[in-house]
Amino acid sequence: MTAQIIDGAALAKAFRAEAARGAAALGRRPGLAVILVGDDPASAVYVRNKVKACEEAGFHSLLERYDAQMTQSALLARIAALNADTTIHGILVQMPLPKHLDPHAVIEAIAPAKDVDGFSTTSAGELMTGLPGLRPATPLGCMKLIESTGVALRGKHAVVIGRSNTVGKPMALLLLQANATVTVCHSATPDLALHTRQADIVVAAVGRIDTLTAAMVKPGAIVIDVGINRKADGKLCGDVEFDSVRDVAGFITPVPGGVGPMTIAMLLMNTLQAAQAALK
Ligand code: NAP
Repeated sequence: MTAQIIDGAALAKAFRAEAARGAAALGRRPGLAVILVGDDPASAVYVRNKVKACEEAGFHSLLERYDAQMTQSALLARIAALNADTTIHGILVQMPLPKHLDPHAVIEAIAPAKDVDGFSTTSAGELMTGLPGLRPATPLGCMKLIESTGVALRGKHAVVIGRSNTVGKPMALLLLQANATVTVCHSATPDLALHTRQADIVVAAVGRIDTLTAAMVKPGAIVIDVGINRKADGKLCGDVEFDSVRDVAGFITPVPGGVGPMTIAMLLMNTLQAAQAALK
């Protein structure tokens, strides 16, 4: 079997167009504020891409860059000002922050209604209990990629590799909400392949090259690769050994061009959702 490649770039384009239509219908521009502290080059690229996507969708976007020495109180004061700014509907603080800043305190300072990253304890609680709310963009994007296959999730066995608060755990909860039977694996899982070989859906969110190989995949499975790694030659790759797994899986996402573009598209959808709620 050769897997069908799930084109994340094309799906993301469709969602970005939907976000643009939603923004136009709103009568006011949804506003996203992005805060970047420090000079991490990868973060600078992510932030630029988010702001560019906002502009292309007709959103208002505000990029605030601060040097790595910014104090916690100064950052919290900026967040408080953006919480009160009625032109801003979503606030995103790019992670990771410099070591002296407390990411938990910073995330909790964002008004829950503007938490478009979905990382706050309020958003996590809403997801946990099945209440409506803002879901973390990357796992939400993975759900859309899975749904795009047309395979019904009800009763399927899904294995999530990774249990971070930003990807693995919310991913598992979204799959559970969609009536999949969910197994979560992590670094203390003794036999990863034992679990993945039984899975109809595997989501790999580890950050390690070749975590999932062809021998670990059930024929026909849906494989979603969240990982972003760099090979020795400098090229980007995911956690999945793409060339071999594509011969076994039914559907597979590439890296790049899979989950990455969907993360940005879902950020726009979340900002639109926050703006719609604010302007109701
Ligand atoms: P993270 O916080 O480092 O979490 C990695 C998870 O993988 C942890 O739960 C860890 O287990 C688990 N793990 C490590 N080694 C393992 C192994 N040998 N077997 C099974 N599980 C193992 O990373 P993250 O933030 O979730 O991100 C994961 C990857 O996705 C990274 O490559 C990141 O760059 C990428 N990412 C991509 C996007 C995108 O838009 N495409 C967005 C976010 C993240 P423990 O909990 O036991 O340590």
